Amino acid sequence: MLLQGTIIVDARTVLEDGAIVIEDDRIAAVDDSADLYEEYPDHERRRYDLIMPGLVQSHVHSVQSPGRARADGLGLCEWLSDQILPMEAAMGPEATRAAAALGYLECLASGTTTVVDHPSVEHTAEAFESAIETGIRARMGKVLIDKTDSAGLAEATETALTETERLLTRYHGARDGRIQYAVTPRFAASCSEACLRGARALANRHDGVRIHTHAAEESETIETVREATDKRPIQWLHEVGLTGSDVVLAHCVQTSDAERDLLAETGTHVCYCPSANMKLGAGIAPVGDYLDREINVTIGSDGPPSNDTLDGFTELRQAALLQRVSRRDPTALSARGVFRMGTRSGAEAAGFDAVGRLAEGWKADIVGLSTETARATPRGDPYAHLVFVAQGADVRFTMVDGEVQYDDGDYSGVDAAAIRRRVEQIPDRLDVWAITGSHQAWRRVSGHSPFVGCEPVTSHSLSWGS
Ligand SMILES: [Zn+2]
Repeated sequence: MLLQGTIIVDARTVLEDGAIVIEDDRIAAVDDSADLYEEYPDHERRRYDLIMPGLVQSHVHSVQSPGRARADGLGLCEWLSDQILPMEAAMGPEATRAAAALGYLECLASGTTTVVDHPSVEHTAEAFESAIETGIRARMGKVLIDKTDSAGLAEATETALTETERLLTRYHGARDGRIQYAVTPRFAASCSEACLRGARALANRHDGVRIHTHAAEESETIETVREATDKRPIQWLHEVGLTGSDVVLAHCVQTSDAERDLLAETGTHVCYCPSANMKLGAGIAPVGDYLDREINVTIGSDGPPSNDTLDGFTELRQAALLQRVSRRDPTALSARGVFRMGTRSGAEAAGFDAVGRLAEGWKADIVGLSTETARATPRGDPYAHLVFVAQGADVRFTMVDGEVQYDDGDYSGVDAAAIRRRVEQIPDRLDVWAITGSHQAWRRVSGHSPFVGCEPVTSHSLSWGS
């Protein structure tokens, strides 16, 4: 296949009238379109206004798709323990498979070709199967919880680690290497010391396996870790071996100077999730300081209930805007810098070589966008366009590993309508857990049972919540 248009090679190079040739899973050539037209006369040709490397999101929760636009107005701990964990616990294998698939389809249709996913404790094999079926590139793994939680998801340490190794053996390297394993503790305080040390031992035993967890997201969770360990989260993670160049820590919003030193010294990757941090009132990650210390900062949507979308372009925009607000400085985070975070930096964190750049010999993970809408006209600087103007809805074409996975509304290999219908049924089942298990939180927020009805909106609730 030969794609023609404005080619954004990486955060430094743009070819205004360029073309890119794909053969098998790799990019065979990138050059001026006239030259490549002559050299490759027989390749199928497509034209897109902007052609770029697929976005890489280094922290998402695919299986939380049924929680989109629900559980609004809660702090992180309440949101998690009363709503999100019970939702995950209520989903059986079939629902988990559909929920994960929906998350991956949303990513593919909106320009994300690679995710570092944090699915759930149970039925993780179903999420792996969905990743394989939809064709997304994914680093993912079973979520580890071995301390008591509100939803009853906790497992014995041995069970959690044994099942992790079973899944790792089965799926690490699946679909020609598109699927890679990440040992995935939920967060420091949801796991015992033995579990966290076991996670490190597992990652060390298997080539190319990474570690992915949440860290230092907001005050209450930091306090929970301190009560359990007498340490701040990243200091504790470091002590049990969960820092390093094979570790991705989501959020890192509230970190001490000593923790930032640890991140820099160990080469730990940080995933900045601006929309989720804003929505849950967590704070603003000190991205400028991380970059000054040469910490690799990447971008993620987090989960549908904390965002409420997996649109990576929205996240690029929020990433830049929030840092500029924080520093009161319009130069705080450049469009090129954000673009790099969302592409190559993400691939480095996710541990995928030759991903995140459109150059000869690199993987053919490619997105084509249209600029033919009122919102997207005229097209100015390509980086400013992709960060501040583009939305996932502008994506027309998504290729992963040389295969077209999304083509102008059509997905390859999956029945997207059936998946949507299946996920739409999930809230009916969630009524059961919500009413019996977490009714109080919903009563506080809405005055009614979840998913049944909401209190009439008042002027007060429109301003500061009820
Ligand atoms: Zn998360």
